[in-house]
Amino acid sequence: MTFKAEYIWIDGTAPTAKLRSKTKIITDGTPALGELPLWGFDGSSTNQAEGHASDLVLRPVFVCPDPVRGGDDVLVLCEVLHTDMTPHPSNTRAALAEVSARYAAQEPVFGIEQEYTFFEGTRPLGFPVNGFPAPQGGYYCGVGVDEIHGRPVVEAHLENCLKAGLGISGINAEVMPGQWEFQVGPLAPLEVSDQLWVARWLLYRTAEDFGVAATLDPKPVKGDWNGAGAHTNFSTRAMREGPEGYDAIVTACESLGEGSKPLDHVKNYGAGIDERLTGLHETAPWDEYTYGVSDRGASVRIPWQVERDGKGYIEDRRPNANMDPYVVTRLLVDTCCEALEKAGRV
Ligand code: ADP
Ligand code: MN
Ligand code: MN
Ligand code: MN
Repeated sequence: MTFKAEYIWIDGTAPTAKLRSKTKIITDGTPALGELPLWGFDGSSTNQAEGHASDLVLRPVFVCPDPVRGGDDVLVLCEVLHTDMTPHPSNTRAALAEVSARYAAQEPVFGIEQEYTFFEGTRPLGFPVNGFPAPQGGYYCGVGVDEIHGRPVVEAHLENCLKAGLGISGINAEVMPGQWEFQVGPLAPLEVSDQLWVARWLLYRTAEDFGVAATLDPKPVKGDWNGAGAHTNFSTRAMREGPEGYDAIVTACESLGEGSKPLDHVKNYGAGIDERLTGLHETAPWDEYTYGVSDRGASVRIPWQVERDGKGYIEDRRPNANMDPYVVTRLLVDTCCEALEKAGRV
C-alpha cells in the first residue's frame, strides 16, 4: 500500500519549542507504529544541531489517521534522537517514559485543558482595529456574533481530532474574546502528552485553512485580560478509589508544597509563567503554593465533587498554555507518586 505519512516532531526553539513536520511517501508499507521507518532531518534548521553535524533521527512514537488528507494517510508523531539512537536534549519524552514506567503500578492518569488564542494579524480574533472590545464577562461559554469569534475553526479542529481518534473530552469558549479551550484525557502520561502534541499540530494546521493563526502565548494581551493556561488534572488509582481516596488526594496536594517543589514545578511549567500567575484572573501568585476545595485562586484545586465523594482527582492550575506536557506530567508523577509510595497510599 502507498500512503502519505506526515512525520511531526518537536524542535529545539527556546524558550518554547515549536512543532515541525514533513511528508514521507511510503510505497509498499503499512501505517503501523512498529513498521513505520525511522527518518531524519537537518537539525541545524530547527535549533537542534550545528551545521557540521546536523543529522538527527526521527523515531515514530504515535500514529493516527490523518483527518486532513484522509484515506490511508497518517500523522506520525516522532521523538528526536542522535544518530547513535540516544535521546537528543530537546527530547523530553524520553525522561517521561522512564518516570512513568517506574510508577506505572499506581496507574497515573491526566486530563489536560489546553487554552489558546486565535490571532488575525497582530490582534486576537474579535478585537477591533482600534482599541479594545467590551471588558471580559460575557465571552466564557458564550453564544452569538457579539461574543464568539472563530467557532468554525474550533468545530473543524474538534472534528479533525475525533477523526484522528484522539481522546478529546470537550471544548469551550474562554474568558477573553478569540480565546478557546479543548481538553485531552483522561489518559496515561505518555498517551495524554503525545495526543496533546498532535492535537496542537492539528489546531495550527486546521486554522491555516481559515487564514487565522492560533497561539499558545500564555499572556497574549497584557492588562486586564485572562492569560492562557493548561490546567492539568491528575489522579492515581489510590486517589480515584475510596474509602481512603481523599487521604491520597491530600498526600498528593501536600507533596507539591514541600521544600523546593513549588519552584521546581513552576519554573518548568512554561515560559513567561510569572506574567500569567499574578494572583489575578483566577490564578495564584507563581511564588506561593496553595491548595483548596473549589478554589480557582489556589495553585491546586480539589473539585467540589471530589470532596463530596471522598475520591477523584486534583487540578494543577499553574501550567501555562505553552507548557511541554512531557515535562509537566513527569514532574507531577515524580513528586506525587513518590510521596504516595512513601505514605503507603498506592
Ligand atoms: P474545569 O471545570 O476546570 O474547566 P474541564 O471540564 O475543562 O474542567 O476539565 C476537566 C478535565 O479533568 C477533563 O480533561 C477530564 O478528562 C479530566 N478528568 C476527569 N476525571 C479525571 C481523573 N480521575 N483524573 C485525571 N483527570 C480527570
Ligand atoms: Mn476547563
Ligand atoms: Mn479554561
Ligand atoms: Mn480548569
